[in-house]
Amino acid sequence: MKTNEEAFAEAVELLRNASRLVIFTGAGVSAESGIPTFRDKQTGLWAKFDPAELATASAFRKDPDLVWGWYEWRRLLVAQTKPNTAHRAIAALERHVPELILVTQNVDDLHERAGSSDVIHLHGSLQAARCFACSRPYPLRSNDYPDPLPLRSQPPRCARCNGRVRPGVVWFGEALPEQELRKAFQAAKDSDLLLSVGTSGVVYPAADLPNFASRHGANVIHINTEPVDVPAGFILQGRAGEWLVRLLTAAFGHTSQL
Ligand code: NAD
Repeated sequence: MKTNEEAFAEAVELLRNASRLVIFTGAGVSAESGIPTFRDKQTGLWAKFDPAELATASAFRKDPDLVWGWYEWRRLLVAQTKPNTAHRAIAALERHVPELILVTQNVDDLHERAGSSDVIHLHGSLQAARCFACSRPYPLRSNDYPDPLPLRSQPPRCARCNGRVRPGVVWFGEALPEQELRKAFQAAKDSDLLLSVGTSGVVYPAADLPNFASRHGANVIHINTEPVDVPAGFILQGRAGEWLVRLLTAAFGHTSQL
């Protein structure tokens, strides 16, 4: 097994020579901004709920106010945070690699706020609410949160059919958005390097992206604070922001402040 420093030296070479790079991110990238991952204990208000049990269509049918309240809490949390070094380093990589495609499982907008363009969101977005009945998009206003935020909060109603508005995220048991899924897997197939950052790799089909890229000939590097099981490629163990800055500096001599 490689030491972290041997893995780093190999990663620098791969990155420097990459012409079609895919970066695949998960909740670990936003953890350094203060947004809990799914595996973190939820804080305060929500400590007694299992997020996986709130992220389903049946949970919304059973208790729409509870589920809407949870997503409003997450939307507020995201609005109060800022992109971190990892988001900024990924945005900076766009200027160094001939082609970079960013695919995220995150439902926040921190990649966009860090300056990344054309982010492929495989699991939807907290901002893209729509009607649960007829799917008509429902515009959510930023800075429009009740204060204090209650545990339960009634979802708004659709202007067309009066159905309940649901969060614009992909829940467990739902299909991923077709176009995004196709674009992500095509990019992985065409890539020569896939960098997987801050994901536990357990939520399918997204989690198959690194292996799919590897089967089509790409090199795969994982960055994770934990020694996660990686069927393809190798791992740089540690915080996303720190490794990405080191990679940017060593591969491209990037010196501007991130
Ligand atoms: P996950 O919680 O399953 O895994 C997060 C991974 O990141 C873990 O393996 C952890 O060890 C690693 N990690 C934590 N901090 C890190 C850091 N500083 N640097 C590097 N790695 C770090 O999340 P997931 O793999 O993204 O998948 C679960 C689902 O959770 C996704 O579908 C996503 O939609 C959803 N989710 C999204 C957000 C968000 O949008 N910010 C937050 C929570 C959950």
